[in-house]
Amino acid sequence: MKNYLLYFFAIVFCATALPLAPTVFPLPAEESTALIHVLSSQTGSVDVMPTEDYVLGVMQNAAYPYSGETLKAIAVAVRSRALYCEQNRPVHAEAAVCDNPACCVAFSCTAVDEEIIRAVSDTASLAVLYRGKPAAAMMHQSSGAYTASSRSVYGVSLPYLVEVKNVTEDVFAEKTWDKPTFLALLGLSEQTDLSTLLLGYDKSHRIHTAELGGLTLDGGRFAALLSLPSTCIDLTVTGDEVRAVCYGEGDGVGMSLHGASMLEKTGSDFLEILAFYYPETQVGKAFT
Ligand SMILES: [Zn+2]
Repeated sequence: MKNYLLYFFAIVFCATALPLAPTVFPLPAEESTALIHVLSSQTGSVDVMPTEDYVLGVMQNAAYPYSGETLKAIAVAVRSRALYCEQNRPVHAEAAVCDNPACCVAFSCTAVDEEIIRAVSDTASLAVLYRGKPAAAMMHQSSGAYTASSRSVYGVSLPYLVEVKNVTEDVFAEKTWDKPTFLALLGLSEQTDLSTLLLGYDKSHRIHTAELGGLTLDGGRFAALLSLPSTCIDLTVTGDEVRAVCYGEGDGVGMSLHGASMLEKTGSDFLEILAFYYPETQVGKAFT
């Protein structure tokens, strides 16, 4: 996943800020294509399909447990990312994406849910645009107090994937281990001195690096070894016990889906939700 995203963000953007405004803007001067090239991971062939069909297929396969404005915001984000990949080809030279979820995004061509059809058709051709071009609109399940920046997580700066002060989601997981179990999970010996544990945090309070007993791990690896759902972790050591409280789920980059649904509950529409999570962008028609 991480390798894929490193490729995904391989293009460096240097740009000035655009005003944040939750309104729909007209078609940009440079029209983007309405077709998406999809590589079959089974046959190696490339299918060319209308963007809207691709968005429907991705959303059907993902079966997001959301509705209304949140589902519309997701549809726009999925479309934006597909168009971004079509225009920039960050992963595959011959196609925007493939159908392997371990590499790109899976999609399904089976019957589509009515609510998904409505979310896609209500937002037809709309994308998150940065300087008039589709943005790499990343999403994750839920977040702590701040979303994460693409720079902190993947080492690539994008002006619209930055730390955003989040709504209160209160999604967290708690785990407690005895000292030997905690050390064993990290692959360290029982004799390792836990008092030397050094956790480096980024601006969004996610662990960037963890150092202990001569071992240095990036935050993602540290969370994975402890089977925690994100790197937004408070860790306390008391006597022989290690306790973790972990906030949110996923890499924290871009739109938090759970946060989006909470914004909807307080009256935000999909344009306001997208403007909240993707600063310096506008939502507009990406094609006719
Ligand atoms: Zn792929």
